[in-house]
Amino acid sequence: MGEGVALGIVQETWHLKAACRGPASALFFPPSLPERRDDREMREFDAKCICLGCPVQRECLDFALRVREPHGIWGGLTEAERRRLLPAAD
Ligand code: SF4
Repeated sequence: MGEGVALGIVQETWHLKAACRGPASALFFPPSLPERRDDREMREFDAKCICLGCPVQRECLDFALRVREPHGIWGGLTEAERRRLLPAAD
């Protein structure tokens, strides 16, 4: 197996260690129905608390920034917080 393939496998498996796997995953994305601002802030706070203890936070944030993930909390940051880290689009 070549190094590139091995690295590809590693890059695809970080999510297996994600602290948000399971029922808590619903906290990381807005519900299908409209959400009040204070409910959103509480949901995002709870999700970020899970991210704080996640062993793959760096990998998760790197991935979300690389693919410019437009929705949800990844690596402890909301979509708006991640956009501020990205270079402005031309
Ligand atoms: S950093 Fe947060 S969103 Fe990313 S895998 Fe961990 S718990 Fe999930």
